[in-house]
Amino acid sequence: MPIFDSHIHADTRGWEDLRTLSLFGTRAVVTCAHDVFDFSGPQSVFDHYRRLLNFDCFRLRTNHIRPFVALGIHPEGIPHDGVDEVLSRLPELLQQESVVAVGEIGLQNGSDWEIDVLRRQLQIGKDLNLPCIVHTPQKNKAEVARLVMDVISQVGISLDLVVIDHVDIRIIEAVRDLGSWMALSIQPFKISEKEAALLVQSYGSQRVMLDSDLAGGMSDVLSIPKAIFEMKTLGISAEDIRKVTYDNAVAFYRVAQCLP
Ligand SMILES: [Zn+2]
Repeated sequence: MPIFDSHIHADTRGWEDLRTLSLFGTRAVVTCAHDVFDFSGPQSVFDHYRRLLNFDCFRLRTNHIRPFVALGIHPEGIPHDGVDEVLSRLPELLQQESVVAVGEIGLQNGSDWEIDVLRRQLQIGKDLNLPCIVHTPQKNKAEVARLVMDVISQVGISLDLVVIDHVDIRIIEAVRDLGSWMALSIQPFKISEKEAALLVQSYGSQRVMLDSDLAGGMSDVLSIPKAIFEMKTLGISAEDIRKVTYDNAVAFYRVAQCLP
């Protein structure tokens, strides 16, 4: 069964991990910009983007994984200086080959500063008709996710263009009610593969994607294959499994023509 991992951070993982992803069926990924370190200014952010687009796409391709890229300012990676410069260049940078989304954007603690940066990036997604990958935090998830959903509604971006990420039992009903896409990140500190399988069983496969959110912290290159195992054990249909691990990502990121 082919896997499209809808949200990873390839720059944080070594060659062997990318190879393991490939060996266990990953055929495509979206690798997202994030909070690599304390960005001192706009140039560090642009260098991070350049690495994703060049070096990491090369490493993924060499491991037989089709790379797609999301560019944006992560709420924990807002540069000390030069946010305006990054945001003013972002529309042009998003036109590059293999870039399919604005992301990872979102809120971490929900400060006014974060809300402003999120709002401006959702507006860019709306103006360019590009999908947006929206992070929600572990701490105070329900409260901060509510703020995220308020900003999405205020900007008026189409919900076809929004995936709310790191959804768990605390916010799944609210995201369902909103009507956007949702992603379940299977990670030791987020949800287990078993929980993900149970959520798919309860809420169905409509507008749901699984991702590993592979990053520099504790995460598991086999999380999606393990979730597939759990979904099979629960008797979830092959069609629904394929939707949450491949087809829905192809549809959301609108990349069918780029895949074999
Ligand atoms: Zn992430």
